[in-house]
Amino acid sequence: MELDDFSAYGVRSRREGNIINAAKLRKYINNGFLIKNSKVVFTGGEPTLNDELPVMASMLKSENFSGVALQTNGRLLSYPDYALELVRSGINEFGISLHGSKPSVHDAVTRTPGSFQQTMRGIENLVLIKRIFPYIKISINTILTRINICDIYSLFFKFRHVQGIDVFVLNPLILSGNGENYADRLLLRYSETASAVAAVFRRLDTEFVSRVVLIDFPRCVGGLQKNIGDFEKVNLIKNASEARELKTKMGYEGVKRTGCVRCRYTDICTGISPVYIKINGWSEFRPVL
Ligand code: SF4
Repeated sequence: MELDDFSAYGVRSRREGNIINAAKLRKYINNGFLIKNSKVVFTGGEPTLNDELPVMASMLKSENFSGVALQTNGRLLSYPDYALELVRSGINEFGISLHGSKPSVHDAVTRTPGSFQQTMRGIENLVLIKRIFPYIKISINTILTRINICDIYSLFFKFRHVQGIDVFVLNPLILSGNGENYADRLLLRYSETASAVAAVFRRLDTEFVSRVVLIDFPRCVGGLQKNIGDFEKVNLIKNASEARELKTKMGYEGVKRTGCVRCRYTDICTGISPVYIKINGWSEFRPVL
């Protein structure tokens, strides 16, 4: 399995307006705003709250986009009929946000009591549906924070024998919005994250570790290069009613230090969040020569 097959969560935004619907999507397609032969990702807000999601997915399927992906909290997928409807309408990649192995951790991150049970039910439904539609890809996406970093091994352990999960994506905290507001309580240093993840990897078998990808993680910290994936250019369809102008999935434009020009990864590195540097400085980042 190539890690890059799954580094599919970058953004190339060409959206207009705030709320997507079938009529707008038709306009995007007809006006050439979406790149054909590429993947389209429904993300932002919670796309499953959009009543027209199945219609829009069908539209993209009939237009032969190479993939139609959905990033979701997975709660509505707890209804099996709805999960099946999305697959039948053309969504072939599901990224489900799961932030802990148990309610006390996941619900603390989402701040939504009961969300763990619903999301787990959604994942179970998708795994069952995949037996009929084996081409769909399922990823579990986890944002690493001070709340859940000690629970990551338990989370992976829970899924160690589950067939059908293609990839486990680990993301650092996005330092904008609430991520920035609560950075003092949530933010981990990259070096802390790398140590913790490396310790988790040592307890897992290599096949499982090969399915774990860190996205938006600098290659100069922590020796986890084998598991670091890159952002991929994709079309983004945002569902949020309060859409922000996103330059990238990260929500910021990365900065680099002077020595970065000498780093072997400089061409593929998207830089570091300026907020992160303001909080933690540059000491962790040493150019790889
Ligand atoms: S370019 Fe700079 S920030 Fe990026 S991996 Fe290299 S040293 Fe780290």
